[in-house]
Amino acid sequence: MEERKAKVLILGGGPGGRVAYMALRRMGVDSVALVADEEPTVICSLPYGVGRRLVPDGPEKVVVDLARSPRLPEDMPKDVIWGTAHSVDPQGRTAQVVTRDGEVRVSYESLILAPGAAPWLPELPGVLRDAPGEGGPTVMVGNRLVPRGALGENVHVLRGARDARDLDELAGWANRVVVVGTGAIGLETAEAFADRGVAVTLVEVLDHVVAALDPELAAVVENTLWSRKVEVLTGVKAAAVEPGGLRLEDGRLLEADGVVFASGVRPRLDLSRAMGVATDRGILTDSRMATNLPGVYAVGDAAQIPDAATGRSLLPLIGTLAMRQALVAAANLVGMPMALPPATVWGVSEIFGLHWGSVGWTLEAATRAGIRAFPLSQPVRSRDPFMAGRDGVWRLTVAAPGNEGLAPGQILGFQVVTEGDSPLHLAERFVDVVTRRETVQDLFARYFIHSPSHNGVDDPYLGLLFQAQEAMRQG
Ligand SMILES: Cc1cc2nc3c(=O)[nH]c(=O)nc-3n(C[C@H](O)[C@H](O)[C@H](O)COP(=O)(O)OP(=O)(O)OC[C@H]3O[C@@H](n4cnc5c(N)ncnc54)[C@H](O)[C@@H]3O)c2cc1C
Repeated sequence: MEERKAKVLILGGGPGGRVAYMALRRMGVDSVALVADEEPTVICSLPYGVGRRLVPDGPEKVVVDLARSPRLPEDMPKDVIWGTAHSVDPQGRTAQVVTRDGEVRVSYESLILAPGAAPWLPELPGVLRDAPGEGGPTVMVGNRLVPRGALGENVHVLRGARDARDLDELAGWANRVVVVGTGAIGLETAEAFADRGVAVTLVEVLDHVVAALDPELAAVVENTLWSRKVEVLTGVKAAAVEPGGLRLEDGRLLEADGVVFASGVRPRLDLSRAMGVATDRGILTDSRMATNLPGVYAVGDAAQIPDAATGRSLLPLIGTLAMRQALVAAANLVGMPMALPPATVWGVSEIFGLHWGSVGWTLEAATRAGIRAFPLSQPVRSRDPFMAGRDGVWRLTVAAPGNEGLAPGQILGFQVVTEGDSPLHLAERFVDVVTRRETVQDLFARYFIHSPSHNGVDDPYLGLLFQAQEAMRQG
């Protein structure tokens, strides 16, 4: 068995693991080993690689070459162990890695767990092959982690390079696909197939698309999808994958050449649990990204953190946060104390030219969690009505009086749909508002910069403030 030694061992080569590696190297730690079981990608661009409109050369352009990327240290390949970490002995500080050429035992001083999350598929007939399949990183079917190769022939997911190549190939010949799930990944995948001229049916178990939006804003997204000839079926449940397509619980068969499951992801916790790391829905971490075991940190989609708005536990499942967590873990590891800034869940996306974004809690999610809240909606326009402008809507989720630990009027969430410019910076602003627990009164301190259509009393922040005052007055 090959023996290796590293000051810091990182398990997982996704955005969390890779940024932890880069940060440690920048901070002067030269002895770092990273275990990766799949080719790294610019994961957020995978759908665009499949769709070809934004990445004309296809998914290969989205794969990161560790030996050539100008952003990575030139000698990084020497530190990468291609394989899967199968067990860790936290007392002895060693990890066993299975590679194509045999086993490697790595001794380390500190460990960063970055195993990420696996695509989750419901355990339905036809999702798995009859014979146990092998190969590829894991996906979760029901409660079981299985290799990609175990999925049925016409069953697909999108998480890595292998998946993107697989979907790219499908888009080359398919006439129709079904995409299960209407979150950002489901929608971006649907758009990718539409861009390739493939007919798409979107299937959603909820009664509206995009769980990160309340129904009023989700309806705008749904209209856009229909207007681009994407069929959208909401309030329906998949029952089985069949050779001819997807069977729904109501008996209908949605004919398709392939079924793509974009039905969520779940943290990969098997290894962490086996080595005694404390977990709940994800790996439990403190603000330094440290776990309960000395010298062991966890970052990325597998890590559970507190939601800054409410203090409840959160699995953010977003790459930008995985990278920030990686920086925090690396800094603490080299003796530079650093805490993860307050965080919540956020995301922006674009579908057929319509932008949507969501920060923190929707009214639906808050109500489900037992939080008393009310919504405020504000139409916005990018220019004066007499100019060619674009329409949009902002929506806030606001805490009502009587919630323990929440101030009455606290802004818990922000949503936007707009045909205008990307709401990226707007969403960033509301990340601050939500994570700093600002209330509707604090909206007065916000300015709308250069918007000809809004004057002193009808800018959207003040519109929301006036609405909030009215709502609070009426109780
Ligand atoms: C199509 C798509 C679009 C997205 N768009 C955005 C976006 O626009 N913005 C955003 O913020 N986020 C986006 N995300 C989410 C983002 O990709 C994830 O939050 C991010 O990848 C999490 O990084 P991670 O390193 O924690 O985990 P992962 O990316 O899941 O990487 C973990 C890696 O570790 C490997 N691994 C696990 N266990 C082991 C082991 N025992 N040994 C070796 N290797 C192991 C896994 O196979 C995997 O390669 C998107 C995701 C997808 C799929």
